[in-house]
Amino acid sequence: MTNEKGFWLYDLKVEVSLENRNPICRHIEGEYFSVEGENLIFSSDQKVSMYALAAILPLLPAKQRVTNDHDWMFTDAEVACPDPHCGGRFRISRKAKRWFSHYETTGLPEDRGTPYWSKELKG
Ligand SMILES: [Zn+2]
Repeated sequence: MTNEKGFWLYDLKVEVSLENRNPICRHIEGEYFSVEGENLIFSSDQKVSMYALAAILPLLPAKQRVTNDHDWMFTDAEVACPDPHCGGRFRISRKAKRWFSHYETTGLPEDRGTPYWSKELKG
């Protein structure tokens, strides 16, 4: 790490949790995707309902950030499928923290540097 301005985000794991409830949509116990920075990462055989994903997406940026231990965003970890007849739930768990440089992630013209992802392309 340097003295460069930046911030930490948690990597997330979003996993299907049924606990004997019956799903209507295609929710398979244990299937999951990961979140690293702005990216959703699926292994090749994992799928997620776009309706469920629409319910999950607005919460992910808040779950990535450090919150107070008494904030419900910290304590509450499950999101329900938006179909009221479906038993599908998604458990969001925090994993390792990842550091991001401000100038590699901002769109502000006066602060903008080389985007972080372009380093990944160069290897
Ligand atoms: Zn569902």
